[in-house]
Parts: sequence; C-alpha cells; structure tokens
Amino acid sequence: MFDADAVRQDFPILDQMVFDHPLVYLDNGASAQMPQVVIEAVSDYHLNHHSNVHRGAHTLSGRATDLYESARDTVQNFIHAAYREEIIFTSGTTHSLNLVSQVMADQVLQAGDEILISEMEHHANLIPWQQIAKKKGLTLKRIPLNENEELDLAEGLELINEKTKVVAIAHVSNVLGVVNPIKDLADAVHAVGGYLVVDGAQAVPHMPVDVQELDADFYAFSGHKMCGPTGIGILYGRKELLENFSPVFYGGEMINRVTFEESHWKEIPYKFEPGTPNISGAVGLAAGIDYLSKIGLEKIQAYEQALVDYVLPQLLNIEGLTVYGPKDPSRHTGVISFNIDPVHPHDVATVFDSRGVAIRAGHHCAEPLLDVLGTRSTARASFYFYNTFEEADRLIEVINKTKEFFT
Ligand code: PLP
Repeated sequence: MFDADAVRQDFPILDQMVFDHPLVYLDNGASAQMPQVVIEAVSDYHLNHHSNVHRGAHTLSGRATDLYESARDTVQNFIHAAYREEIIFTSGTTHSLNLVSQVMADQVLQAGDEILISEMEHHANLIPWQQIAKKKGLTLKRIPLNENEELDLAEGLELINEKTKVVAIAHVSNVLGVVNPIKDLADAVHAVGGYLVVDGAQAVPHMPVDVQELDADFYAFSGHKMCGPTGIGILYGRKELLENFSPVFYGGEMINRVTFEESHWKEIPYKFEPGTPNISGAVGLAAGIDYLSKIGLEKIQAYEQALVDYVLPQLLNIEGLTVYGPKDPSRHTGVISFNIDPVHPHDVATVFDSRGVAIRAGHHCAEPLLDVLGTRSTARASFYFYNTFEEADRLIEVINKTKEFFT
C-alpha cells in the first residue's frame, strides 16, 4: 500500500501547528503544496541559471532556454501529447481557457453557432464563453446534472447538433468531485465537426491523463494544483489545429519578422507564447511532474480513492450533513463539498481552522452550479496523496464538534 506518511517527509510545510493543532491541509483543490525538490529546483534556477530564454547568445540564456524547453518535453510526456509543439505555457488554467476561447471567437465562431458547457463549470470555463456568446450572437447551452448530481450525458449528447462548434467541459468538477465522460463528448462533437475543450485543472494532479486517448482538441491545467508553483499552466492543443490558427495575443518572442506593415509568426508553440514566459514556473512545474511521476499517478489515484471510500460513507452517515455530488464513493474523487445545516460554511471553515484543519468555504468559482444545487455556498475538503487516514478521521471529528458547537 502507498505510504502517505513517508511522502509527507517531502513536504516540510505540512509539519506545523495551527492554533496548537497539527495542520491538516485539505484545501488541495485550491492549491496543493510543493515538495522540497520543487522548491529546490526553482531556487537552483534563480541561484544559478536565471536569464531570459531564446534571445541570448550567452551561457546563462542558453541554460535557461534548455531548462524551459526541457520542461515542455516533461509536460508532453506526462499528458501523452504526440508532439512537444502541442504544449503551450500559460499562467494557468484561466489563462489557457481564455486563450483558446479567444482563438475560437476570432477564427471559428459565427453568429448562430452554439457553444455547449455544463452546469458544473468553474467560472474560468464559463465566463469566457458567456462573454463571447454575448458579443457574437451565439447560443450558450449547458448540460444539466442528473439525479445523482453527475453530468447527464444522455442529455448532453442530445444537445450536440450541427450548430455546436465547441463543447467546453471540466474533466473533474471542483465542487462535485465527479469525473466527466470526456471521450463520449469528444466523439459526439467531432461527429458534427466541432471542437472539444477540456478544463483539466482538477484531473491532471490526481489521475493519469492521456490527451490522445481522451481525444481532446484543447486541454488546460495549472501547475499549482499538482505540486508546482503558482503562475504557470498549460494549454495543450492538437498540432494541426495550432498550426492553422493564428495568435490573438502579440509581442516579442512570437515573431520571425516584423515590418511596419506586416508581422510573420514563429512556428508553434512560440506564436502562442508572446512575451517573456514564467521560466522558473516551468522549471518548478517540470520538477513537480517528475516528483508525481516517480510516485506514479496510478498509485496516487488508487490511494486517493481509498481515502474517499473510507471517508465518504462516514460523511453520508452524519445527520444534518449535506454532501454534494455522487454518493457512490467509486464515482467520487477527493473533492468533497458539504454543508452542516444550519451553519454558514464560512463559520464552518473558521471553526475548522481553529482546530488546525484547512478547508475552503464559498462558491468555489462555480456560482451557477450552486444555484442549481440550491445553496449560496458550501464547505469543501479536498484531499491529495499526502493526506492520511488519520487526517480523514480529524475531518469527521471536527465536523461532529462543529455540529455540537452550533446546534
Ligand atoms: N477550473 C477548475 C475546475 C478549477 O478548479 C480551477 C481552480 O480552482 C480553475 C479552473 C482555475 O485555475 P487557475 O486559478 O489556476 O487558473
């Protein structure tokens, strides 16, 4: 069995007291912690190799470029992309989704076209499409939830028609903890000539992801949820699409030749990476990926599933506790949203903090989903592979204490 106690040694930040209690960090859905090797890789970059990439003839610039470009190879292998040119560095999922939606708005979408999202989208995969739809006279449709608070796939497939140019969907919901059937949606939207855009922010850190198997046209994720630093993320795009699309953001690093009249773009991925990139972020992300790969994503996924199998049935047994998303543990990832009736989730999170347990409370950037669920906010505990079964026990214990305190 996977040894969470051993991997915790790699995360010095986890070993601390909060209000005289050992820290239990269950806010991994927002940002995961970085192991020492990632912090050291970023630090080594700054201490020994820092310079700007691609431009300089000098040694440091060459080293910075090598590190940055080798990070691209690391990401390519990690998500099983066919070509390194398919990996675009961005500042995170939000940036990636804005980039692809702007390209679509500029070069694909016409008045009367339809974009299909789901009811469970994070604002980052909702607002860009909503605003484009408003500006261009498009219809934004949404796939509803079924009675298990999972995606209603049958309804989703019904909604896809010849007008559907984009299906934009979360791989894993950051509120419901459910995994969506990406391949089914890919087949359906490709059959009508549309594109599949996947928000993988909550998937890539927790399970093996193969973008070719999923048949995604675009796939977005963030470094800081997968043991990497903040401010770095990825947009994967299928090579032939990236080659055919033009950039929508401009500046240095992305051109071959500029005159006052014309600009000629570099080859992919550079035409989509204007300006100085987050070089140390890419180095840190690659170190995070190396770290995760050494453990193995299959092992991480299986261990997190064991935690969910352990904790979810216990949560469902607590009277007065509403748990969102599927109730079958085998359909639920380690993102678990709940409410302790009638306590406000912010009070829940504050009491938890006073007992050393870090969770998140609020709308989790998914306000329309919470409208569907009939609540304004929830508490959310989100697990990662360094969380232990004892910490799951602490979660249950603190929920019970909070209930006693307020009721
Ligand atoms: N999509 C999902 C499902 C998320 O959980 C998040 C982050 O919480 C995002 C998008 C946005 O990620 P970032 O803030 O790193 O851009």
